[in-house]
Amino acid sequence: MNIIIMGPPGAGKGTQADFIKEAFPIPHISTGDMFREAVAKESAMGLEAKKYMDAGQLVPDDVTIGVVEERLSQPDCKKGFLLDGFPRTIPQAEALDKVLAKLGTRVEVALNIAVPDQVLFDRMAGRVSCSNCKTVYNVKFNPPAKEGVCDKCGGELIQRSDDNADTVRNRLDVYNRQTQPLIEYYEKQGTLKTVDGNRDPEDVFRDIKRILESL
Ligand code: ADP
Ligand code: AMP
Repeated sequence: MNIIIMGPPGAGKGTQADFIKEAFPIPHISTGDMFREAVAKESAMGLEAKKYMDAGQLVPDDVTIGVVEERLSQPDCKKGFLLDGFPRTIPQAEALDKVLAKLGTRVEVALNIAVPDQVLFDRMAGRVSCSNCKTVYNVKFNPPAKEGVCDKCGGELIQRSDDNADTVRNRLDVYNRQTQPLIEYYEKQGTLKTVDGNRDPEDVFRDIKRILESL
């Protein structure tokens, strides 16, 4: 089961990835999470990535492709994987196809979560996540039982530094220019499945589950 989950920032990729992981035991590979970990560790790659993330720009393709190629070669990806937030450019998608061909496999389904821009702004403005286990909440749409505290592990909930209004605008602009062309790319490959993401998370997942069960 080789799955890509795509869609604009704030569409609910991470939220749906959590549901998918529970129902289908495959590794969840989020390039955003990997970059945030590298930033927290202050590794050379993290310091390089941070410059782009803070500006709402994409980390350069060579860096990003290298990180993903390394991760996909790990043994746990043999049974399949869920790629979240990658690819985000046509060169990344082409590189992914090449890497997978070398490994004797391919992308089976590209799940595209569609959500209108205004909803995305509201979602990102209210997003908080656990500093410990990374579970994502929304102060407006999906609040934790106790403000500022993770329901699952009791960790502190924090706001992402790139979820401020200016950076969000840049990220949506970057999405429209650089990532949206991937919809046509996967449509041509015959692997694209678009789901309406502007509904309750459980309803979105019901559609996704049906698609994945039909693979
Ligand atoms: P992405 O990984 O695509 O950037 P997230 O999964 O982090 O998106 O979701 C962005 C924000 O929107 C989070 O605060 C999350 O709790 C909230 N969210 C996700 N899916 C939905 C939904 N279907 N309805 C309302 N809010 C949602
Ligand atoms: P995300 O958590 O997916 O919203 O990603 C947060 C940030 O990490 C993005 O705004 C980019 O700066 C960077 N990033 C994540 N994935 C990629 C990717 N595939 N290509 C380039 N930059 C990425």
